[in-house]
Amino acid sequence: MRDILNLSYPELIKILTEKGEESYRASQIFSWIYKKGTFEFNDMTDLSKKLREELKTQFKLQPLRVIERRVSKDGTIKYLLGLQDSLCIESVIIPHPNRTTYCISTQVGCPVGCLFCATGMAGFKRNLSCGEIVNQVLTLRMDSGKSPNRIVYMGMGEPFLNYEETIRSLQILTHPAGMSTSTRNITVSTVGIVPKIRAFAHIHGAYRLALSLHSARQRKREKLIPIAKKYRLSDIKRALIAFQKEKKKRITIEYVMLKGFNISREDALSLRNFAKGLKVFVNLIPFNPIPGSPFRKPSPGEISRFHQMLLELGINAEVRREKGSDIEAACGQLRRYLLENLTQKA
Ligand code: SAH
Ligand code: SF4
Repeated sequence: MRDILNLSYPELIKILTEKGEESYRASQIFSWIYKKGTFEFNDMTDLSKKLREELKTQFKLQPLRVIERRVSKDGTIKYLLGLQDSLCIESVIIPHPNRTTYCISTQVGCPVGCLFCATGMAGFKRNLSCGEIVNQVLTLRMDSGKSPNRIVYMGMGEPFLNYEETIRSLQILTHPAGMSTSTRNITVSTVGIVPKIRAFAHIHGAYRLALSLHSARQRKREKLIPIAKKYRLSDIKRALIAFQKEKKKRITIEYVMLKGFNISREDALSLRNFAKGLKVFVNLIPFNPIPGSPFRKPSPGEISRFHQMLLELGINAEVRREKGSDIEAACGQLRRYLLENLTQKA
């Protein structure tokens, strides 16, 4: 059966009008699913009984299975969600004093294989469908009762290696008939897939872009991110300049701080060179240690020293507070932790 969450608004209109229904039915259905959050066609009481029955026989509409839900001391909620084919993904709710952020996945695993990332180290299974991407938002909202103010594509996977489905999901989540999330409240994070950064610049909307940089030195970056050989820093920078020309938005640079590896003065100077000509904000993320990784987390002193160096070089930077570190909340960690524990028990 087709997943109704895979349908864009225009596709839903087309299906309905082919059945002889009025096109405004699409608006009612979008509102039930994305605004009101129902997972029952029966509840869509402003549709005719006949249409509801037809939808039921033609389409699937069900939340993802919550396999595990962990609540951190700081309120972060980490979910392990089961897909139809029994693979699983992670999604996270991050509470702030006056807003709620959802962090969602775009792939099962990740083909990029960054050496500091639990998702990357675990390998790649498959892309998520657009329906599976938006369903994370619906499932988290239903389970937690908290609607998102912001959505970040920073869970498992590389969104720009699943570009089509990522864009479709963005268009559904921001559709005015549905959840109508403001495009400016959605951030897509990429490791630097150059052609897709360029394509994304031409997608309608004020979406925010984050680049996972981790080192502004080509050789060093290649040691962390295998795909960095293919998408070189110089090409990424040109693509970011083009993006910024189009969108006029500040770009977030994510920088995982690794002890003794990427936090020297030279690294700070390279970062300044990379940022020249761009409007950026640097998010410094202390490495969240994962088993089997050769890297270590810097000490608090080292973290603040590197932060200070950037500030003195005139770079806007902030150290990201470590949310949910007591519940394996870094990318791909909960899945790995649970899989290991389950295998041990078995
Ligand atoms: N693939 C995309 C989006 C998902 S990763 C990307 O890489 O941008 C989201 C962020 O989590 C990335 O910036 C990544 O570098 C960071 N991350 C991954 N593993 C981490 C770890 N062990 N400690 C701290 N941050 C990590
Ligand atoms: Fe993939 Fe991002 Fe993890 Fe790298 S950091 S392996 S790109 S999910």
